[in-house]
Amino acid sequence: MPDSSTSLLVADGKAALTSYAAYTQQGGYQALRQALGQMSPADIIAEVQAAGLRGRGGSGVSAASKMSLVANAQAQEGQRYVVCNAYDADTRSLAAQALLERNPHAVLEGIALAAYAVGATEAFLYLRSTREPAAQTAQAALREAVEQGALGRNIFGSRFSLAITAVGVERGFMGGEETSMLEIIKGRPMKAQQRPPYPTEVGLYAQPTLVQNAETLANLPTIIARGAQAFKATGSQTTSGAKLLTVLAPGQTTGALVELPFGATLAQALRDARVEVSEATARAVVVGGMEGGALPLAQLDTPFDFESLQELGAIVGAGVIEALPANTCMAHWAMERATYLSKESCGKCVPCRVGVKRVAGLLEGIISGLGTQNDLTVLTEFSQYIPDGSLCGFGVNAVHPIVTAMQYFADDFTAHLEGRCPTGTCEPVRAHRYATKHVL
Ligand code: SF4
Repeated sequence: MPDSSTSLLVADGKAALTSYAAYTQQGGYQALRQALGQMSPADIIAEVQAAGLRGRGGSGVSAASKMSLVANAQAQEGQRYVVCNAYDADTRSLAAQALLERNPHAVLEGIALAAYAVGATEAFLYLRSTREPAAQTAQAALREAVEQGALGRNIFGSRFSLAITAVGVERGFMGGEETSMLEIIKGRPMKAQQRPPYPTEVGLYAQPTLVQNAETLANLPTIIARGAQAFKATGSQTTSGAKLLTVLAPGQTTGALVELPFGATLAQALRDARVEVSEATARAVVVGGMEGGALPLAQLDTPFDFESLQELGAIVGAGVIEALPANTCMAHWAMERATYLSKESCGKCVPCRVGVKRVAGLLEGIISGLGTQNDLTVLTEFSQYIPDGSLCGFGVNAVHPIVTAMQYFADDFTAHLEGRCPTGTCEPVRAHRYATKHVL
């Protein structure tokens, strides 16, 4: 757990900071008052840069660099936007939901600080409409902040005004993809868009737009109020601060939320969540969510950080860590992930739309006892081809399950080629080899 004064979570047993009064009693909105009264937009970006804040939404891009790009991009009549992603694309992730339910004003204050820094007067809080307590708490906090003069016209008597609109949607996994999100806010069909140009230059209504994860933005009040150095006291050499992680025990679908300093190990995350894993109870630990990579238990000493996870084929991603039961056949697990992802793909580009489906089909054949050695070669080829040719991060990350399953659990695949399931759990799912009419 990080230093409690930089923690985003309100500790269990303590009252949630949902009301304006409760939040301000804890020093809330001081950062925004200070920023509007004493700091220029460039000062804010410089402080965020000094703090080394990286995006919590999976990419790990420097938050200050993104803010600078938006602040310096050409905008018609100076119109810029901020979009706060509080959607939790992986429905098992509790991060944005917990923030909105227990500390919504930290998110709103973060949005206001970011908007002031980039020169935006309009922002959107994008969330899952089906997570009703979180959506309702966020909207109530928004109304109260406007009533108290912390948002809206001439915030705290300054010349800075900001309107925040809450947008509640339920659009599956791809609803959390940055360009899809902008299309949805505009009322258009959900399809990812070609980049470049990036939203930092041509975003919402073709204007420069800062799209930032709710957790990233919720860190801004701490950075401004306590200073970059205090924020940097938690975290690793490459990534400052902590990450909200959802940790699932073997066989569980509901996880425990923990706040882990970057650089602490995967084993520490499991301990913090009181999830015990051993060879007797778990086969692998999947790091990153539905597009995350499966790591053997021998890798539990790996630091949780963007680069160290990437080296092993896993990702920070949705911030979900999931222990798989000891009797999991990893070929079957990879098939289930590929099947799920093939259904969530928006279908705009061929490598992802067709490629992920073919991976799922090949895996169905393998676990049904119809696989050949050549299928493994084709799967390896697809694992390179799909991310190389995909338009958005969904396709780039979609191969992590299959790549890591084949890398660390190769015996599970070869056992199936020899006609047996290594854990005795697989049932055939198809009677014929996978065939596709699609032309690649
Ligand atoms: S990579 Fe997949 S999700 Fe992304 S645009 Fe292409 S088809 Fe859509």
